[in-house]
Amino acid sequence: MSRVSYVNGRYLPHAVASVSIEDRGYQFSDGVYEVIAVRDGNVVDLYPHLLRLDRSLHELRITKPMDHFPLGAVVREVVRRNRVGDGIVYIQVTRGVARRAHAFPKHIAPSLVVTARNLAPPSDAARSNGVRVISTPDIRWGRCDIKSISLLPNVLARQAAAEAGVYEAWLIDEDGMVTEGSASNAWIVDQAGNLVTHDLGPAILGGITRAALLDACRSAKVKLVERAFSLDEARNAREAMVSSTTAFVLPVVAIDGRSVGDGTPGPVCRKLLELYHQHLQDELGANAIGIKARRPLSKSKASA
Ligand code: PMP
Repeated sequence: MSRVSYVNGRYLPHAVASVSIEDRGYQFSDGVYEVIAVRDGNVVDLYPHLLRLDRSLHELRITKPMDHFPLGAVVREVVRRNRVGDGIVYIQVTRGVARRAHAFPKHIAPSLVVTARNLAPPSDAARSNGVRVISTPDIRWGRCDIKSISLLPNVLARQAAAEAGVYEAWLIDEDGMVTEGSASNAWIVDQAGNLVTHDLGPAILGGITRAALLDACRSAKVKLVERAFSLDEARNAREAMVSSTTAFVLPVVAIDGRSVGDGTPGPVCRKLLELYHQHLQDELGANAIGIKARRPLSKSKASA
């Protein structure tokens, strides 16, 4: 079966789907994106992702290409046409096509691309044995809260992880604090037993998985603090984890080759896995009975 992708109003064979070489995404990374998980053919956390997309567009003053309802319909249609069971949907919006000049061109329409593909969820081995990470300097810009397609520092960090044979690279700021991973949020359980993840702000991307986990943890009365933690603190933490749309939640059992805790996934991590599994079940259930608009997001989530 050949893949189908959506480009500016048309569903096209993936192999020939394209945008202009003068697209500002191509020339300036002048665009934003979302990656959304698909489980059993259901799009997970669609509206939180669309809200974050709106926020990224707003921050960069890129025109919104479509309202939530039609965009949600396009997303589901791309999933359907590609027969995605477990996988991901990718949405990219750029400022549009114009003769190359840095300042915003006037009167151009944004470019919208939606693709989808099957992708296996994290393996049982990764979930039950955990993954390893390395640390690397955070050389990104000052607005990491915007989900920009300008990902070169993230690409370099993930390549360093790949070359080191580990899952992820944790990014360390100038003060020695862990901001997040190259494509995931970072978590630890500190010596006081608190679950800790970096607070929202320009230093991190407010992950949708992070927000779902925080919500679930609050309901389950898990002790948690949103604050920065240092690489030193992470190395001496009881537990560590990563979260993202594609990883869901994974235990981190080693940082820079040194074991975290006893080098095996701990109880808080197992609890998070359970809570996230429940969240996925709730999402699938909500889709099955047609509840599209779930309860309004809290402010911190909407600005994630
Ligand atoms: N931080 C960065 C830098 C990311 O690229 C991602 C993945 N998009 C995340 C965090 C996790 O975000 P989410 O849970 O929305 O996938």
